Amino acid sequence: MARVVLISGSNAPAADSLLSQARGMVDSRIGKVVCASHLYRSRAWGFDAPDFSNQVLVAESSLSPDAVLDALHEIENSLGRDRRREEREKAATGQRYASRPIDIDILFYDREVIATQRLTVPHPLMAERDFVLDPLAEVMGDFVHPTLGKSIAQIRKQRSKA
Ligand code: ADP
Ligand code: MG
Repeated sequence: MARVVLISGSNAPAADSLLSQARGMVDSRIGKVVCASHLYRSRAWGFDAPDFSNQVLVAESSLSPDAVLDALHEIENSLGRDRRREEREKAATGQRYASRPIDIDILFYDREVIATQRLTVPHPLMAERDFVLDPLAEVMGDFVHPTLGKSIAQIRKQRSKA
C-alpha cells in the first residue's frame, strides 16, 4: 500500500459540495481516505477568477502513480470537468489557468520522486503555494519533503518569512 497525498480544489459556486463528492470518490476508487484537512479558502492563483476551496486528502492505495492519475482524471470528468472548454477559456482570456469545477493533483506518492512526461511528484509548485502548504501543514506538518529535505512546517514557516 502506498500513502498518496492529494490536493483537491474548486472555484465553482458549489465548491464545498464538489470537494465532498471528490473525497468520496477518492475513497471508493483510489483507496481509503485516512486523513483529510479542513477546507481552506483562497484567492485564485495565477488568474482572475472566483475564490477557491482546497482540501488535502491522504489515501492508502494499491494503485500505481499512473493509475492514480487516471483515476483522478475520471473523477474530475464525472464531476463535470471539461478540459476542452478550459482550453477555449484560456485562449479567449489569454490567462494561463481557467476556472474548473474540480482539480485534484498528486502532492506525494509515498516518498517517491517521479519525473515522467505525465507526472511530476512531489508536485513541483507546492512550496510556492500557501493554499497547498496551509492544509498540508494541518495534516502532516512533520513530513520531510523527499527532495527539499525539510519538513512541511519548516517550508511553510520559511515561506511566510520571505
Ligand atoms: P493543473 O496544472 O491546473 O493541475 P491539469 O489538472 O489540467 O492542470 O493538469 C495538467 C497535467 O498535469 C495532467 O494531465 C498531468 O499529466 C500533469 N501532471 C504532472 N504532475 C502532476 C501531479 N503531480 N498531479 C496531477 N497532475 C500532474
Ligand atoms: Mg490538475
